[in-house]
Amino acid sequence: AHGRVFNFSAGPATLPVPVLEQTQADLINYQGSGMSVMEMSHRGPEFTRIIEEAEADLRKLMAIPDNYKVLFLQGGASQQFAAIPLNLTQPGATVDQVVTGSWSKKAAEEAAKFCNVNIVAKGDNKSVPERSTWQLTPDAAYVHYCDNETIQGVEFSEAPDVGDALLVADMSSNFCSKPVDVSKYALIYAGAQKNIGPAGVVVVIVREELVGKARPETPVTLDYKIMEGSLYNTPPCWSIYVCGLVFKHLLGCGGLEGVKANNDAKAKLVYEAIEASSGFYSSPVEPSVRSNMNIPFTIPADATLEKEFLSESSKKNMVQLKGHRSVGGMRASVYNSMPLEGAKALAAFMKDFQSRH
Ligand code: PMP
Repeated sequence: AHGRVFNFSAGPATLPVPVLEQTQADLINYQGSGMSVMEMSHRGPEFTRIIEEAEADLRKLMAIPDNYKVLFLQGGASQQFAAIPLNLTQPGATVDQVVTGSWSKKAAEEAAKFCNVNIVAKGDNKSVPERSTWQLTPDAAYVHYCDNETIQGVEFSEAPDVGDALLVADMSSNFCSKPVDVSKYALIYAGAQKNIGPAGVVVVIVREELVGKARPETPVTLDYKIMEGSLYNTPPCWSIYVCGLVFKHLLGCGGLEGVKANNDAKAKLVYEAIEASSGFYSSPVEPSVRSNMNIPFTIPADATLEKEFLSESSKKNMVQLKGHRSVGGMRASVYNSMPLEGAKALAAFMKDFQSRH
């Protein structure tokens, strides 16, 4: 009805049509306020309700325990690469970083500006090193890892067991895609623009006892204590409002159990198309850690066919399937809001394309 395509972008990514329709209905006059959410005070009654409901709905969706703070901040997940060491370490501290792809590597490089970084395990961009091989530092301030590597398509099947160490996770590209036991984590952070909303907001879920210990030189907008309540300065109001609508939408999809079942079904269709192709398509990732969100694949016999694949698929309204510039090939991102029909259409196209080449 809206002339929309199946958008496989890795982010900013597709959003639920009912959410977009709601934003359209609210755009010029938000619920009788006579203003758009973009135009109203972040301290007025309408926005106060919007941000309180967004937090309450996210708490419900993820079953976030009461001893965690939820912050809606700016600067993206990349800014958290610096904010986390500034808030959770003192000078001279060591942090453990697990590197399984491009984003966890970037996080480790940024952390190294503020503390000693011990790369406790380094993957080959296709797998996650066996937990038994990780060399954790006994007194590390925390262990950081990326739960889903957006570029490589490597996803942890469960939270790594790090014993009593504080576990910090970048969940930017699989946030709210499946149930997560928040109590296992010291801190979870995620940019919104893949699974839960537009760009411009990053969610930080942090155990409250860790808040209030930032280094003195920490910029105010990065200090979790100062940013508590997300209203120290002007927050990304519009982005928070859209995330709030997405949280309600996900609650209506059967919560994260329902969301996961749908995501499993979509990813399965694409992986099966790869597996059933007798090697025409290839996934570089070890099966046990293949991402449910980002599915990279190549056409190994003839890379020129990849260009053809991208051009033909976009003519069929399946767009943004190009792999990240650092790895090439194709990448299908099938986040929460990708409809099942989109994954079905892609799998069918993959079969058809193979039969013709
Ligand atoms: N971590 C992961 C896993 C990501 O996918 C991304 C964005 N693609 C980032 C961090 C960086 O996020 P941002 O662009 O919001 O800084």
